[in-house]
Amino acid sequence: MTNEPSIKKYKKGDVIIQQGDEGHSAFVIEKGRVEILIEKDKGLIQSLGTRGAGSIIGEMSLIDNEPRTATVKALEECTLLEITRNDFDRRLKNSDPIINAITQIILTRYRDIITKAHILGNSSGYPSPEQLEKKYTDESKALDTLKFGHEFKDAIKNGEITLNYQPIIDIETFKVIGFEALMRWNHPEKGFISPDIFIPLAENNDVMTNATYWALSESCQMLKRLENLRNQSGEFFVSVNYCGNDIVDLNFNQNIQKTLADNDLKPEQLHIEITERSLIEESTFAKDKLQKCRDSGVAISIDDFGTGYSSLSYLHYFPINVLKIDRSFIKNMEVDPVSLELVKTIINLGKNMKMKIIAEGIEEESQQNILKTLGCDAGQGYYIAKPMAEENLINFLINVKNT
Ligand code: C2E
Ligand code: CA
Ligand code: CA
Repeated sequence: MTNEPSIKKYKKGDVIIQQGDEGHSAFVIEKGRVEILIEKDKGLIQSLGTRGAGSIIGEMSLIDNEPRTATVKALEECTLLEITRNDFDRRLKNSDPIINAITQIILTRYRDIITKAHILGNSSGYPSPEQLEKKYTDESKALDTLKFGHEFKDAIKNGEITLNYQPIIDIETFKVIGFEALMRWNHPEKGFISPDIFIPLAENNDVMTNATYWALSESCQMLKRLENLRNQSGEFFVSVNYCGNDIVDLNFNQNIQKTLADNDLKPEQLHIEITERSLIEESTFAKDKLQKCRDSGVAISIDDFGTGYSSLSYLHYFPINVLKIDRSFIKNMEVDPVSLELVKTIINLGKNMKMKIIAEGIEEESQQNILKTLGCDAGQGYYIAKPMAEENLINFLINVKNT
């Protein structure tokens, strides 16, 4: 199906749009003139005026999906450019959600005004402004997004957001060497919300960076408690996920140094995880900050490696010392020779560049064995352990006898 607007031709007297019909298109008048008519109760017809070349007609129904509020007739031979719902929806989907919602609300108010001015009379099938208003305040995802920012901030304060820790093992010795900190949101009404949903929303609302600082502080405190409990220091590292915005934040370096010092942890005990995508997007500002971080001894880890960018030159450009192979390759490496080849290549690449390789998403013993044979350094996945709360992690470490 093509998304190019199509040309429609109408003869004098043709009905282009019929009041009360569903509206699946808007039209740009290329040539000719049309009249806009409103049918009121008892068959009374009122003209709202005429439109000529360059005008747009039928746009309201396209935006709010409500029936046509007027009839449009060709006053002479007309050539119109049709904008279909498919094309419009595609464009709307790509637009900013807030702009999208505000457009719809302005339109609701406009319809409200014309209804109140009795221009439309009691046109049947047309919802009341109150119904429309409710629809957009109840259903608008964009407005939910606006509310989300406040809700998310409160959720951290109220303890609804917690961290789970997924153990990372040395593939050679099977000893636990560290943990990845993963956020969980237990919402009082909506229940468990996946981080795949709330993290991008938090990022879009500029409320993620504070959450990342909270996660860093929480996971470093947890690591210290674990060290005190086990009476051993420097045994584990903790890996914290960062978004692109978090790295360009003014306090990025200072916050890391202070949190490590506050918890008496060595810089080597912290891994900063960032996806390839975020890194490239923030490349100009991120480099110096990450370099400073790396120089202090903190590890810089590339998350979901292999899924983001085809160009590998950024591996030289940024101070990276850990690659995490995306779990999709691990999942498929036994059935798909290309995935296996990719895993081998990433491991060799890492070795040549003096980087550590961590495999994600190990779900089977056989996968762990293959990774060991290939010389992968470390791994995490449901086969080893699922992400878990701190108290379960303490028990897990006792049971695996990590000595
Ligand atoms: P990720 O950073 O790639 O984290 C690994 C995800 O894989 C986690 O999902 C983990 O539970 C899941 N996983 C681990 N082992 C296995 C396995 O063997 N099989 C399968 N199928 N999955 C496994 P989770 O916790 O739902 O997190 C999803 C994503 O949300 C994370 O992907 C990360 O991108 C983001 N995320 C989570 N917590 C944070 C955070 O604190 N900050 C930021 N910026 N992002 C976070
Ligand atoms: Ca991660
Ligand atoms: Ca990952």
